[in-house]
Amino acid sequence: MKVGKNHEKYEKLSLLLEQDLGLRVCFKCNKILPLEAFKPNTQTNTCREHLREKQRRFVVGTPARRAFNCLRCKARADSIAFGQKSIKFSFNEMTKILTEKQIQDYTHYSVIPRRPNETLSVDNHAVVTVRQRKYIMTRWQESKDAEQYECDIACFLSNKFRMENETESVAL
Ligand SMILES: [Zn+2]
Repeated sequence: MKVGKNHEKYEKLSLLLEQDLGLRVCFKCNKILPLEAFKPNTQTNTCREHLREKQRRFVVGTPARRAFNCLRCKARADSIAFGQKSIKFSFNEMTKILTEKQIQDYTHYSVIPRRPNETLSVDNHAVVTVRQRKYIMTRWQESKDAEQYECDIACFLSNKFRMENETESVAL
């Protein structure tokens, strides 16, 4: 009840502030600013400057984050197939493992452990194409044969199956 009343009071105050004084509170900087500091025709309590900051972060952060979320999700699903409880794959580790171009084209790639009985990590990883992952994981599901698995990866990573050549066929 008390909260409701306070809220009502606050609403009244902010209305007064806005209509009589042409001011509004920015909740981000905790300052009372002139209405011009806010996007017109909105009720937002985030000033333009903070709005811009938020958008900048969105633009810079999102593509790599999106790549990370996608790759991590696939890696987590694989770890369950390997009977593992967790994976060690942070955002920073992703940037160490993948090239900038691979992060950009992240839908074409997957990160899988090189040795299936050990947790995925910087020291135990292979970057493969989505097709290669599908092949390797299907074989693994059927055989649970670690030696074969490692052999498959070695084969894909050898010169014969260079990823640069694979990307095109995957993109089809
Ligand atoms: Zn602000």
